[in-house]
Amino acid sequence: MRSETLTPIFVRAIPNQLEEGKVYISIDYRTAPHKCCCGCGREVVTPIGPTDWKLTYDGTVSLYPSIGNWSYPCRSHYWVQGNRIKWAEGRANCGRKG
Ligand SMILES: [Zn+2]
Repeated sequence: MRSETLTPIFVRAIPNQLEEGKVYISIDYRTAPHKCCCGCGREVVTPIGPTDWKLTYDGTVSLYPSIGNWSYPCRSHYWVQGNRIKWAEGRANCGRKG
């Protein structure tokens, strides 16, 4: 099932088992993995850094740029803004255009 929200969980080390609907943020490892929000169960890893993803936390979590799982069968594409998943609707939006 699709998730509509992602709850940030701050951790030191990333647990082996991720729960859906949660994004695990490790400052030590500068990474924020979560399970694909489409519900396919695959792990999506977003490294955080100047040339990777930018993570903003203001009590809610946002990730920039969008998350596009082109290499997964689901090819899901979404934005994480303020703990909420904003789905990029339509296949026309797929493809690495930014
Ligand atoms: Zn998926």
